[in-house]
Amino acid sequence: MIRVTTFKDRSVAVFGLGASGAATVRALEAGGASVAAWDDSEAGRKAAADSGATLVDLATADWSGFTALVLAPGVPLTHPEPHWTVVKAQAAGIEIIGDIELFFRERAAVCPQSPVVAITGTNGKSTTTALVAHILRQFGNDVEMGGNIGRAVLTLEPPAVNRIHVLELSSFQIDLAPSADPTVAVLLNVTPDHIDRHGTVEHYAEVKRRLVEKAQDAAVVGVDDDWCIAIADRLQEAGTNVRRISVRGAVADGISAHDAKLFEHDRERADLNGIATLRGAHNWQNAAAAVAAVEALPARFRESGDLQAALQSFPGLPHRLEVVMKIGPVDFINDSKATNADSTEKALASFPGDIYWIAGGKPKAGGITTLASYFPRIAKAYLIGEAAEEFAATLGGAVTFERSGTLDVAVRRAAADALEAGKPGSVVLLSPACASYDQFKNFEVRGDAFKRLVAELAGEKARP
Ligand code: ADP
Repeated sequence: MIRVTTFKDRSVAVFGLGASGAATVRALEAGGASVAAWDDSEAGRKAAADSGATLVDLATADWSGFTALVLAPGVPLTHPEPHWTVVKAQAAGIEIIGDIELFFRERAAVCPQSPVVAITGTNGKSTTTALVAHILRQFGNDVEMGGNIGRAVLTLEPPAVNRIHVLELSSFQIDLAPSADPTVAVLLNVTPDHIDRHGTVEHYAEVKRRLVEKAQDAAVVGVDDDWCIAIADRLQEAGTNVRRISVRGAVADGISAHDAKLFEHDRERADLNGIATLRGAHNWQNAAAAVAAVEALPARFRESGDLQAALQSFPGLPHRLEVVMKIGPVDFINDSKATNADSTEKALASFPGDIYWIAGGKPKAGGITTLASYFPRIAKAYLIGEAAEEFAATLGGAVTFERSGTLDVAVRRAAADALEAGKPGSVVLLSPACASYDQFKNFEVRGDAFKRLVAELAGEKARP
């Protein structure tokens, strides 16, 4: 755990007592602050009280004694409207920050030279963060990974000269971390997203820019969308060391990817062919960014490493084009994280053909109409959940499909068809393009169910 000493002997209000909020309470108290903790939900309050936090009803509390409000990142700061604690904090004239800010202040206080790689972007954050951490570990470094992935930042080991923190940051977290100044910052891409929370895409892009702008040694920026191109140009003009990433064409200073190979100028840096966990052009972007980030760190963290071997051994993240198993010639792929058409497009683009596609769930606006150019790759579609009728209408005469209804039926039917056709390179792909809530608690539960069903099937096939 990181002891937050920068609020020693002060009184701090903490609102939002999920995993990161509870860790914040512990970290502040361990550093000598007195904490008034609160949550709108009874369950959150009870969990925090059980772990020793002092509950104070912030709705009726006297705010004049607080130095700061530490907010959980899920709590609205500005949009759709400021949370009531934000209004109170503003009225009291105190700062509003998050646990990431506490981390960076502590680092500034105890070990400012400790290396931090921070990663943001609309898509690919988790994959890139996990890959950076993996490469740096393979190179023999002491690595702590957390933030918006895995562990809350304040539960990690403290900053140290030879310990690298690799942090995934959402725009919500950046919004609450005004002094975050990572050694290396990565901005992968910006596409309109979370506009409900940021008001406009301009504001959303602005928040993302703040992180890369404050990078100490280098800003790694994906330049395949207009928002990020503008950000990279602006940073460069301001004198920041910008490393550009592209999967669309060569870049003057940075890493580009094509045909699953990474290049720096004309020099091949790595070959991603055959690395199943980095399949697809979207993952080439993630890999290029990860490599650029690692290489922007001081030489002592990377000079003895074998980059190709590190990429090759990346285990990938569950539920994102995860290869579950091969049965006969057929790969079974769990892409349950694909909860919208954009993500499913990445999956369909990653396989040339013979895709037995399981899709559906709770539909998102727009459905799967944007995927039409990939329909020729689909051998057959197996539709589940509430979206089945809408998807059936979109697939129309273009794709053979059936209404499987539930995931277990879909897996059995898709497997039977794919195994009967028996084509090398064929895949049974769960990439739903839908939220899971109609039939599952969340996308993880849906993906785990898929994996279990595939394992059962493999067990049956193995029996004489
Ligand atoms: P995040 O943490 O930003 O949500 P993940 O690494 O968890 O991103 O990937 C989530 C999904 O986003 C993937 O399943 C894939 O469909 C898509 N994706 C991943 N990387 C990229 C990228 N670089 N560009 C566009 N889409 C991506």
